[in-house]
Amino acid sequence: MKTIGMIGGMSWESTVTYYKIINQVTKEALGGLHSAQCLLYSVDFYDIAECQSAGDWTRSADMLAKVAQGLEKAGANFIIICTNTMHKVADDIQRRISVPILHIAEVTADVLLNQGLKKVALLGTKYTMEEDFYKQKLIDRGLDVIVPDKKGRELINHTIYHELCLGEIKETSKRDFINIMNQLGQLGAQGIILGCTEIGLLVQQEDIKIPLFDTTVIHATKAAELAINMI
Ligand code: GLU
Repeated sequence: MKTIGMIGGMSWESTVTYYKIINQVTKEALGGLHSAQCLLYSVDFYDIAECQSAGDWTRSADMLAKVAQGLEKAGANFIIICTNTMHKVADDIQRRISVPILHIAEVTADVLLNQGLKKVALLGTKYTMEEDFYKQKLIDRGLDVIVPDKKGRELINHTIYHELCLGEIKETSKRDFINIMNQLGQLGAQGIILGCTEIGLLVQQEDIKIPLFDTTVIHATKAAELAINMI
């Protein structure tokens, strides 16, 4: 079994889900008392969020690269960054370690393409929805990606940082997210990427008809499968 190096804490609310899924997938595949061999470094998200709002991505890349180096030194065979947004600095981190990073957008794109989707909607932080570092990975694989309008993007971004990352799950926000998702469905989205690791805490598949692709579930599942040589 390979050892998974997890860079978590962004936020810890979704890292809990990662840890759970990684162990569940391992147990289901191997049975009995098997559980995942993993190392978790959970950062103080306050520091990372400060860098984000100051636009200081170099500093956040330095912080996360140090963590990744520590995980590599401790025996991690590959790394997962347990957030979509901080994949903005994934290449920068990758350059400073010799074990591979399992990229969240790449594994998500694989799932979408395997299911024959062509046009998808992407929900996430403003960085994920508005910048190229994430979207381009999907576009490069031939997917047509749409995002909510400005008002929708602001609402989603605000909800992520002011509610979901703080563990607050509100019925009103859930309704707002579902409305936005339905609008994107009317614009032709065949599926919705929950491109923020906390959105799955708010909206689940039973809440909506359009197929949802939860990046937390996809990323954690792939990481477990890679660790136990299933992929
Ligand atoms: N967990 C979120 C994501 O997947 C947002 C928190 C962050 O900025 O890292 O993008």
